[in-house]
Amino acid sequence: MTETASRPERIETGPIERRRIEAGRTEAGPIAFDNSYARLPQGFFARVEPTPVAAPRLVTFNRALAEEMGLDADALEADGAAIFSGNRLLPGSEPIAMAYAGHQFGQFVPQLGDGRAILLGEVVRPDGGRRDIQLKGSGQTPFSRRGDGRAALGPVLREYLVSEAMAALGIPTTRALAAVTTGQPVYRERVLPGAIVTRVAASHIRVGTFQFFAARGDNDRIRILADHVIDRHYPELAGAGDDRYLQLLDAVAGRQAALIARWLGVGFIHGVMNTDNMAVSGETIDFGPCAFMDAYDPRTVFSSIDQTGRYAYGNQPMIGQWNLARLAETLLPLLHETPGEAVDRANDAIGRYMERFQQEWDGVIRAKLGLPGVSDGGRAGEERGDEDTDLIRAFLALLLEQKADFTLAFRRLSDAAEDAAADAAFAALLADHSAAAPFLARWRARTAQDGRSAAQRAAAMRAVNPALIPRNHRIEAAIAAAVEEQDFSLFEAMNTALARPYDDQPGFAAFAEPPKPGEEVLQTFCGT
Ligand code: AMP
Ligand code: MG
Repeated sequence: MTETASRPERIETGPIERRRIEAGRTEAGPIAFDNSYARLPQGFFARVEPTPVAAPRLVTFNRALAEEMGLDADALEADGAAIFSGNRLLPGSEPIAMAYAGHQFGQFVPQLGDGRAILLGEVVRPDGGRRDIQLKGSGQTPFSRRGDGRAALGPVLREYLVSEAMAALGIPTTRALAAVTTGQPVYRERVLPGAIVTRVAASHIRVGTFQFFAARGDNDRIRILADHVIDRHYPELAGAGDDRYLQLLDAVAGRQAALIARWLGVGFIHGVMNTDNMAVSGETIDFGPCAFMDAYDPRTVFSSIDQTGRYAYGNQPMIGQWNLARLAETLLPLLHETPGEAVDRANDAIGRYMERFQQEWDGVIRAKLGLPGVSDGGRAGEERGDEDTDLIRAFLALLLEQKADFTLAFRRLSDAAEDAAADAAFAALLADHSAAAPFLARWRARTAQDGRSAAQRAAAMRAVNPALIPRNHRIEAAIAAAVEEQDFSLFEAMNTALARPYDDQPGFAAFAEPPKPGEEVLQTFCGT
């Protein structure tokens, strides 16, 4: 971050009034804003407008997403440069920077907040889902500390590509509605073109949002926030009385368990799972130094700042639990009036997270390997479960030993499910090709027992084993072309290809390939 004069850091707090999410829709303009967070009492955010930029240019606009959200896509695209740079505020927008705290690499920071992001407002989609629309890179806010409030083009394109790829993979995630270049430089280790990404999220409420108020001993605002989160993300808990806060903790933990299992299933490494980067909605959020693993190794780390491997691929389930324990701490005053009982309840919930994660992961990995659910089949489920657990372990051990590409291994196995002639393509992914046969024989004998036809099994496997992921070396190449040559064609081609990750797309075959020796990109850098 560069040193620039920051705005005052004071967030006003004071007496509060309880409110539920209520309608406040603005009809005029291309976005019918309905801003529930801006209607919360003071203390949750600072009102601040985007800082205009010199020469905005619309790089890309996500028309499909705009339409899905019920926005006026034509009007937004026609005026995209002005709107998505923050140069023009639309009617009904009530721009705010949200307050939050967070544990960064295990160290608590009592005030972080949106230092370079501004929430323009919320919309209610035609299907009833509420969505935040936020600019990231739109200038300083009271939370900027020493930062310039800006984003460089590279991280903006990375967030756009990866968040949209995650959505196409079917994994809960924030989305990207638009990217613009600002026409202004940003100063990092070198001078880079500035850019802004427009992010769409179920909400931007993080574990760190709860921590912000817990750090201030502000139990009233913790309760208001918890009720807001229930209204917004877990409405089924609204009638649960005082037990609803424990149920909220369980529900957030359940979504986190499911999310992280899905990440592991596609080889995704978030890279900076700080508590301020964990959304209580259960969406993947804050694509900084994130990357997808090529060759399978649970110790894989890409982020240049993750020196100790805290956020390595295989650590993510455990870090999810650590983060949920931090959320639980903030909720203790709401869990029970007796502190000891509150702690017991919180601990039980944290324990249930790990069980839930194991179930979720079991479901993910079984589907990837074409194995039926534990309860299926003729023999006792448990006996079969143990056998399968061993088969799963054997497969992952084979990938690790043989330095096999994670994504292609599962995709080629899906082909082999249908046609033994595809065995050779699977074997070719292993350092020692002959290591494939013993596994394949065992796997075929097992999968043949499930009553499905080979074609059915292969189709089911292809539906969960992507052909295409955003390969790190390809992302870097797309970013380099955009930053160095103002050439966005690679970025656009990748976006198009990644919209259909489960299809074999011969025209985009090169994007599916792992890096050749010398092409690997082993480090990614934070978005700041
Ligand atoms: P991140 O690493 O992107 O999750 O951000 C961590 C914290 O640093 C958040 O409070 C951000 O708002 C803040 N931050 C990151 N980059 C900047 C920047 N260029 N200017 C101001 N604040 C920033
Ligand atoms: Mg963040």
